Amino acid sequence: MDQIFAFDDRLLNAAAAAEKAAEEQFAEIGRIAQHGTAKVLRAFQKYRVSAACFAGANGYGYDDVGRDTLDKVWADVFHTEDALVRHHFVSGTHALSTALFGVLRTGDTLISVTGAPYDTLEEVIGIRGSGSGSLADFGIQYKQLDLTAEGRPDYDAIPQAVRGARVVYLQRSRGYSLRPALTVPDIRRIVTLTRQTNPEAVIMVDNCYGEFVEYDEPTDAGADLIIGSLIKNPGGGIAETGGYIAGRAKLVEQCAYRLTCVGMGKEVGCSLNQCRAMYLGLFMAPEVVANARKTGVFAAELFRQLGFECLPEAGSTAGDIITVLMLRTPEAMEAFCAGIQAGSPVDSYVTPEAWDMPGYESKVIMAAGTFTGGASIELSADGPMRAPYAVYLQGGLTYSSGKLGILTAAQRMLDTGRL
Ligand SMILES: *Cc1c(COP(=O)(O)O)cnc(C)c1O
Repeated sequence: MDQIFAFDDRLLNAAAAAEKAAEEQFAEIGRIAQHGTAKVLRAFQKYRVSAACFAGANGYGYDDVGRDTLDKVWADVFHTEDALVRHHFVSGTHALSTALFGVLRTGDTLISVTGAPYDTLEEVIGIRGSGSGSLADFGIQYKQLDLTAEGRPDYDAIPQAVRGARVVYLQRSRGYSLRPALTVPDIRRIVTLTRQTNPEAVIMVDNCYGEFVEYDEPTDAGADLIIGSLIKNPGGGIAETGGYIAGRAKLVEQCAYRLTCVGMGKEVGCSLNQCRAMYLGLFMAPEVVANARKTGVFAAELFRQLGFECLPEAGSTAGDIITVLMLRTPEAMEAFCAGIQAGSPVDSYVTPEAWDMPGYESKVIMAAGTFTGGASIELSADGPMRAPYAVYLQGGLTYSSGKLGILTAAQRMLDTGRL
């Protein structure tokens, strides 16, 4: 380590040991990035991406070549029939909500087979909040197959549970939970079990935080629709906002009808000046995801050295970019998050405080000094202020900056007596 930042020797020694322990994982992450980059590069070539695609369009956006070509490129990368990649999605939750309202009809049943969905979706579904305007309000029934005590899908129960459901919903990432992320092989198993009793079900995957983490994507495992945010993995830290839905053409069209209007769907919605950032972001994404993964692996190995439990467990396959550090006390969480903030390139001088974030059930503390507001592909740490005081760490546009951020956080814990 260079001497620009003065970290304690104890931390520097632990960091060296952590990088040694991470060598094999880093090598595998590099191989996955190489594969992801090849997929993206080939798609750009196949669909003849050119400067004309970056020019953008205004008004209604008829024949918006940048937008239409990006949809094709995206579908090619994720091996789907079609895709809807839009800056008009205000967030991942909006894209997920659009997909659910796009596909489900009154009288249909939605079943989540990975337990409780991400916090922000509870109000969309209508299991929290006033319910007004939710899926429940439109007569869509919600069922949930809880995870096992080990936080794994209840595979044996899936064939029976999904009978009659229109949408079988899976969340790939762990989200704010301690269960492991689903890997693509896990998803393949769920798809197979679902098809045994419900071949017609739409298998929808919340793919947030999962893109480019493995060689394959859920759509390679038979999922019908995947949904995600462009200020997470597939935006590569470059896309300024947006989300995507990709999968079977008929379903993507239904989602486009919901996003814009019935009959207009994908034909409208101008790209404005967002195209270049979305293309460049997708191009960068496999490598940026690798940097984020390496940052997370480094953090886990470092905090193991320092005596904390961390997830994913050593030796397990990652399915998302999240690393969980079990910091055990609210004070340690605050010190860690303050250090992540202080180690950021943007807003390094502010101190994060826990607050009642809209859509979340308990107070949440968030540290993020990002170029793009709320972009969690950039180094960020957050967590609900509740036992077991686990901090969820994700992002890192470059490994070098990610590592400095983690060390700054550890140093802050040391300085405040939390290590
Ligand atoms: C981030 C996330 C969402 C919601 O995305 P927002 O962009 O924050 O609305 C949904 N599911 C998972 C697993 C996520 O990580």
